[in-house]
Amino acid sequence: MNTASRLGRPERSGGRLSWRKATLVSARQETASARTLVLDVPDWPGHLPGQHVDLRLTAPDGYTAQRSYSIASASGVEITVQRVDDGEVSPYLTDVYDISQSIEVRGPIGGWFVWRDTDPAPVQLIAGGSGVVPLMAMIRARAESGAKTPFKLIYSVRTPEDVIYADELRRRARDDGGLDVQYVYTRVRGSRVGVADVNTHAWSKDFEPSVYICGPTGFVETVADIMVALGHDARSIKTERYG
Ligand SMILES: Cc1cc2nc3c(=O)[nH]c(=O)nc-3n(C[C@H](O)[C@H](O)[C@H](O)COP(=O)(O)OP(=O)(O)OC[C@H]3O[C@@H](n4cnc5c(N)ncnc54)[C@H](O)[C@@H]3O)c2cc1C
Repeated sequence: MNTASRLGRPERSGGRLSWRKATLVSARQETASARTLVLDVPDWPGHLPGQHVDLRLTAPDGYTAQRSYSIASASGVEITVQRVDDGEVSPYLTDVYDISQSIEVRGPIGGWFVWRDTDPAPVQLIAGGSGVVPLMAMIRARAESGAKTPFKLIYSVRTPEDVIYADELRRRARDDGGLDVQYVYTRVRGSRVGVADVNTHAWSKDFEPSVYICGPTGFVETVADIMVALGHDARSIKTERYG
């Protein structure tokens, strides 16, 4: 089997996804509460933008905790974790997990919420908070492949200081006429993403875009309902809920 046909397929061992021991190579602080982790995962089979990994932590007493994280990178394995202050796993990953320490990873996981550079449809990305992570993987994969598919991103985030990948998004939108990025600062204006935002900034249904919506469950459901109400075909809308 060639590499391309394996790309995006979950690696399986004995019919189950296998855990691999990964190492933290480097880390970047994206905002006060979000950190990107660059992992070295031996024998990583490659992935499609939109897929995620499971991470497993094991305490000295054998207690384990496992969480899912979208892959942020187009190639290699980078994840971006937003700290949930009262959370069990995310504060460890943002504040404690250190360079050269190991962690268990399995994946890539997910075959539905993915973008393929062979899809000719224009792309509408809509992110709520850390839901921008797999959408950034799609933006990066588009650039890496040289695809000219036009992309639009609507990014709902509390304040400008909470924007993950702020500099990179600014640079990419400035240098690439095929990428449009619009922000909705919900804390600044005091309301969430609504019909008017989508109507103003998203592709209209006449362009028949492929739509990817990712973020907290309530956000994803509200935005998907808006897209359907605006006449988009429900089959063109793919969603990922962070719970
Ligand atoms: C497919 C998938 C991909 C994901 N990708 C990412 C990613 O790229 N980056 C990322 O940061 N997270 C991502 N998540 C969420 C992640 O898996 C964890 O749920 C999150 O890091 C919180 O874990 P925790 O152990 O810190 O919190 P927990 O101990 O599990 O929860 C603590 C409290 O916080 C609440 N809570 C849990 N998650 C959230 C949240 N996301 N926002 C607000 N409150 C929350 C819980 O209801 C609970 O009250 C993804 C989830 C899924 C299912």
